[in-house]
This record gives sequence, C-alpha cells and structure tokens, in this order.
Amino acid sequence: MFEQDLERLKREHLLRRLTVLNAESGPIVTAAGERLLLMCSNDYLGLSTHPALSQATRAALDKYGCGAGASRLVSGTTALHAELELRIARFKGTEAALLFNSGYAANTGIIPAIAGPGDLILSDSLNHASIIDGCRLSKARTEIYRHCDLYDLERLLQSSSGTNRTLIVTDGVFSMDGDLAPLPGLVSLADRYNVLLMVDDAHATGVLGRTGRGSAEHFGLEGRIPIQMGTLGKALGSFGAYAAGSRDLIDLLVNQARSFMFSTALPPSICAASIAALAIVEQESGFKNKLWENREYFVGGLHAIGIDTGRSETMIVPLVVGKSETAAALSEKLFDEGIYATAIRPPTVPEGSARIRMTVMASHSREDLDRVIRILSRLKQEGCL
Ligand SMILES: *Cc1c(COP(=O)(O)O)cnc(C)c1O
Repeated sequence: MFEQDLERLKREHLLRRLTVLNAESGPIVTAAGERLLLMCSNDYLGLSTHPALSQATRAALDKYGCGAGASRLVSGTTALHAELELRIARFKGTEAALLFNSGYAANTGIIPAIAGPGDLILSDSLNHASIIDGCRLSKARTEIYRHCDLYDLERLLQSSSGTNRTLIVTDGVFSMDGDLAPLPGLVSLADRYNVLLMVDDAHATGVLGRTGRGSAEHFGLEGRIPIQMGTLGKALGSFGAYAAGSRDLIDLLVNQARSFMFSTALPPSICAASIAALAIVEQESGFKNKLWENREYFVGGLHAIGIDTGRSETMIVPLVVGKSETAAALSEKLFDEGIYATAIRPPTVPEGSARIRMTVMASHSREDLDRVIRILSRLKQEGCL
C-alpha cells in the first residue's frame, strides 16, 4: 500500500533515511564504523556533552526519577520546571516564561492559542515548518510575505483592516539559510500598525546578542517583542523549548496552548540540564566567542575558494546546489571523505534550492575546518558543487 509512495519519493530523490551516529568526542562521531567530522549539528556551543549538564541531569535523576508522570497542569510540575521557567524569564528579561516539550510543540501550541478564525497571520516565506503547522492549526487567515521583505509585509498590513487580531511571525535566525530577520523594521511595523509580533529564536538562543540572549538582544530590542519563543535543544544542548513574554501571555498559554495542556511534562532531569546550560551561557562567554571565531574562519575560507554561502550571517552555512539529486550525491561524497553533513531537500527548503546545510560548532578545531575547506575545494573542482 505504501510502496508506491516510497517509490515516488525515491524517484524524486526525496527519500530520507535515518543514520545511526555514535558520539565519540567533541564533533567526532561514528557511523557504520566510520569516524566522521560532524558538520550539521545544532549543538552549536557543544554543550550537549558538557560535564555540568550531565552532572545536573544525574543529580536530578536520583532525586526525581525518570519521567514527570503527567502533564504540567495535572501533577507534572516539579520545582525544577518552575525554577527553569523563572530562569528563562530572567535570561530573556520578560515577566514570565513557559516550557514546551519541543520547539515544534511550542509553535503549534502558541500560535493557535493567540490567533484563531477571524484573525490574520503574516508569516515569512521561509519560516520553519513548525510555524507553518501552527498557522494551519490556528485556522486564522495566513498570508505569506516575501522573505524578509518589509515592503511586501507592509502591503499586507495595509490590506488587513477588518480583521480582528493580526500577528506577524518570523524566525529570528532562519534555520536553513542562516540569515537574520530584519527585526528593527518588523518591530516598527508592528508598532505602527498596532499588531502582534512573534519571533522564533530556535537558532538564536545562546548564540546571538552580546550575552547570548537572542535576536532581541542582538538588535537592542529588549522589551519590544511581545512573543518570543526559543528552544533548549539546540545551542543549549538540552531539550525542550520556551515561550517568553508578559505574565498575561503566559497565563493564556497555560490555559489555551493545547500542546502544553495535553502532553506529559518534560522529565525533571532535562529541566536540570537546561538550568545548567543557561548558567554556562550567562557566565561563560568563551563558547559563544569560539563559535563566532570559527564561523568567521570557516566562511572566510569558503569565500577564498569561491564558494557562495548565500545570505548566511551566522554559523548556519548553506551550500545551495539546486537539485535534490546533486545535494544527495554531494552529501555522500562528503561522507566518503569523513565529513557528516546531510542533504536538505524539499519540503524543508523551497523547490530547486536543495543544499548541504553546514553548521559550525564551538568545538570544531581550526584543523577540522581546514580539512572541510580543503575537501570542498576539491569537490568544487570536480564539479560537485
Ligand atoms: C528546530 C526548530 C524548531 C523546533 O524545535 P525542536 O525543539 O527541535 O522541536 C522550531 N523553529 C525553528 C526555527 C527551528 O529551527
């Protein structure tokens, strides 16, 4: 019954498979007995293997056991959930924060909780799939504005009269291109038209801004974005996600975000890991500085050999090749050279823009990055990208 579906995916070079990776140390992993340099993880600061996170996790496991046992509103709220929410609110400089079980759950919970039938959502054309699904679930009218195009957004805002509530929603750092949303322009449009603004900081949390607090800090817009969402499973090396904003927003989400209400709470030990990760981000800038140094070095090296990194302004470095087939072949070639970087194909990215999405980590050494640049240079000469 499903064979034909799978055959079609295979024919279109869109069939995806899982690769089992075993962590070794730092950015080295093994797969099928091969040692590989990891070049596509979102563990940007390398915190997932930081001893402080493992220690905090172990201590919490001993005290609280494994699972939370129920949803947050039933009996799943422990002191660690409450403490983590307080710390996230302090970190983000907001009145309150609320945990979600993942970024996917956050976006599919937050958006339908604040927008519904009769409302209008204006969404960037390259927003993450979880935002798209959140918009769909909300049943609000959703209009897509051209990527980062403030003129196109304003055109839609001008024709939005008559709708009840309007929400602009955007990634802070775009997950597949590594560029930044034009937040100052978005904030001023949201103010001028008196509409809501929501920013998804999945790839900005811990990475962007002087102290890693995300895109609001990067642009000096603290206190100006009413709905901020971020994840704990990427740069923070843990798992889960958060919404941060006013007390009223959080109270509303507790009552109306279905992915929050109807799902078992995060394990307490995971909250302990996130608390430890936040403390590291707040107290040690070394990981973040190393990440940005590595990013400059890597992108500089790619440009020097004539490789285009598109709009990237961050550690997310897309090598766009166009066809899904070409991207899959390049990923395999890299694998053979001991580099692990998966092909990203539609529907994750628009048709005709398949790519290798490389990511730089704080734990990469100069030698690691030099090796990748050297291999890419050779593959470029061979016409693989
Ligand atoms: C990864 C990602 C999410 C989902 O977060 P998870 O915690 O992995 O579910 C949401 N938004 C963006 C922009 C992302 O890149």
